[in-house]
Amino acid sequence: MLDFDFYSPEEEIALPFYEEHRVRVFVKRDDLIHPYISGNKWRKLKYPLQQAKKEGKSRLVTFGGAWSNHLLATACAGAKFGFRTYGFVRGETIDNPVLKLCQLFDMELHFVDRESYRDKKALFDIHFANSEEAYFIDEGGYGLLAAQGCTEITNELHRTYDHCFCACGTGTTLAGLALGINTQQCGTTLHGVPVLKGGDFIRDEIVKLGVLNAVDIRLHLDYHFGGYAKTKPELIEFIKMFTRQTSILIEPTYTGKLFYAVHDLIGQKQIAEESTVLVVHSGGLTGLLGMLDKF
Ligand SMILES: *Cc1c(COP(=O)(O)O)cnc(C)c1O
Repeated sequence: MLDFDFYSPEEEIALPFYEEHRVRVFVKRDDLIHPYISGNKWRKLKYPLQQAKKEGKSRLVTFGGAWSNHLLATACAGAKFGFRTYGFVRGETIDNPVLKLCQLFDMELHFVDRESYRDKKALFDIHFANSEEAYFIDEGGYGLLAAQGCTEITNELHRTYDHCFCACGTGTTLAGLALGINTQQCGTTLHGVPVLKGGDFIRDEIVKLGVLNAVDIRLHLDYHFGGYAKTKPELIEFIKMFTRQTSILIEPTYTGKLFYAVHDLIGQKQIAEESTVLVVHSGGLTGLLGMLDKF
């Protein structure tokens, strides 16, 4: 089978701010797993790629926006594990560093207008109707097999935590964590930080992925900073401060909003004193390539 071995330590972040609030914060360093098959994308691709191999498929077909971490991860994973890759990109034809990297890993890009992009299954059926070799992977890697990969985060932990935080795009990572916490019965409260406006839809998505009410899940809807890939000066200032003080790089689209939320909630005393908190660093640092002018 495909070798998905990797390194993702669990380390404490010693910030004076956390100490003042008597909260211990740890980070699961999934950002260290791989520079391009980054963080949760690695976990989300593991089982779909194994399934594709098992079915004898030789080509991965997937979908994303022009700065998509998932497109890049799929392109690199294809190169690593011996699949051809094909990416439908939302919107008009453009060029940027992330798409360039996708092409370097030999992904074939196909730009589609926003209207057609909406129906991914239809796109797949139209372009790959007669293909025996194509394997469908949803936008952002969303799906059950992907959530199973994310569940493995909880198996790797060296201690139990009162709180666990992750960023949410499709909700797949949150779903995986919820399933793991439920299996382990460790009583951890799970927090999702949607990076899009109107992140309430995440609740429905995780139910579709098999998450029931057994786990205490809180969605924090007010940390999107204007919407997906939107940012504000206070977020940028926070990222600079955090990176300087911890040596851990974060970016504005996902992990910046995530760590900002953790900071803010601790400041508001919504995390009780003496609590332990785990933050899942889901990687995605190539997102910085499109944001450097903000710093
Ligand atoms: C894709 C991505 C997410 C979103 O994960 P979902 O499982 O879709 O919720 C979070 N963080 C980073 C860094 C990502 O690249």
